[in-house]
Amino acid sequence: MSKYNQSTTNSIDLQFDKDHLWHPYTSMTNSLPAYGVVAAEGVELQLQDGSKLIDGTSSWWACIHGYSHPKIVAAMQQQTAQLSHVMFGGITHRPAVELARLLVELTSPKLTKVFLADSGSISVEVAMKMALQYWQGRAQPNKQKILTIKNGYHGDTFAAMSVCDPEGGMHTMFGELVTKQLFAPAPQSRFGEEFDPQELTEIAQLFEDSHQQIAAVLVEPIMQGAGGMRFYHPDYLAALRKLCDKYNVLLILDEIATGFGRTGKLFAYEHSAIEADILCLGKALTGGYISLAATLCSDEVAQGVSDSPAGVFMHGPTFMGNPLACAAAVASLKLIKENHWQQQICAIEAQLKMELAEAADYSNVVDVRVLGGVGVLEMSSTLNTAELQQQFVDLGVWIRPFSNLIYIMPPYCISSTDLSKLTKAMKAVAKQSSLPNAAGDFISHG
Ligand code: PMP
Repeated sequence: MSKYNQSTTNSIDLQFDKDHLWHPYTSMTNSLPAYGVVAAEGVELQLQDGSKLIDGTSSWWACIHGYSHPKIVAAMQQQTAQLSHVMFGGITHRPAVELARLLVELTSPKLTKVFLADSGSISVEVAMKMALQYWQGRAQPNKQKILTIKNGYHGDTFAAMSVCDPEGGMHTMFGELVTKQLFAPAPQSRFGEEFDPQELTEIAQLFEDSHQQIAAVLVEPIMQGAGGMRFYHPDYLAALRKLCDKYNVLLILDEIATGFGRTGKLFAYEHSAIEADILCLGKALTGGYISLAATLCSDEVAQGVSDSPAGVFMHGPTFMGNPLACAAAVASLKLIKENHWQQQICAIEAQLKMELAEAADYSNVVDVRVLGGVGVLEMSSTLNTAELQQQFVDLGVWIRPFSNLIYIMPPYCISSTDLSKLTKAMKAVAKQSSLPNAAGDFISHG
């Protein structure tokens, strides 16, 4: 006899889900509603009651080509039939090699070495470990700190948490296990506005005082995502690169959310015309079809790691280079190379700017901002995510607000009619929202 009655139909047992399944950033004893999705195609999610929602999230930045794309589906089906998994220790395969070739080709010239990990958080861990091992190989073992900026978000594992915004709760909750890193103020000058070089005064001082301990600077380029959906000035990033060069510090860029076209450039660092020493990629790498992440580094970093006492890089996950995930990523990158993304993001950006502008006049909207395929309404106070999410579902769209933000980053293939439905829903909810901050409200990074 099984412990619990098995469901006899194909329907999703939402009560069992509520009682037994953790969701991201939720409570298991005070859980909030989840909506059962049975299928998805293009930009539409199909709920089990048959209704359809236009997706404004790309499933947290990942599904940039939309759902059930025939080319990615075919590539994955073929790969599953041929070789869905094999260990990567001492073995290689075509999907991994093809993927590495594409990543080296598409990223900046300095990035030549590819480490394939399983999730964004792990690619950040890998980047930090690479930086520390690099300095061991360069006989500077004291360089063990990471310098970062406030409002950042880099994942939920321990090292990744150590570089997340110190006010976000990750540091206080887990005490000593979260390493103390160095934090500078978040960038202030906004993308598209004037740049004030003074804002780097404090971070420049941190470089000056502590460069002998700093292994790397780690930041999200141009867009700080889960830490507030802020778009900062490209000159800030360019200035950071200069400081890294001056003080002999590596630059790690976390492009997990921004990579693959989202901000209007293939990679957000291109806005600043700079190169990273180490680059983290994830989310949209496979077009969102399966989990995979990558950490790229320069020849110099790889050489330093090899010169460290260990002689090898100390990381090797079981599912490293999983062929199925690599095949999905290759199919997704081939779609990227067809170059429709540029036009699509340009059109989305123009429409978002036009259609969201009027929300700036609503009393409870404090800011409206758009960059590439991202549109944000910043509200005057914290939102009740569960309540607003239901309102969005009632309006036929899938938008998941968090903190005081209502924001979208739809799949690139969205039509202008569907995009209008998203912006109308954002405005309708923002306008009528009385903004109660209900108990049991939950946060959600993504
Ligand atoms: N870095 C950034 C910038 C992210 O947005 C995220 C995911 N929200 C991560 C790292 C962590 O990625 P993952 O959730 O795949 O571990």
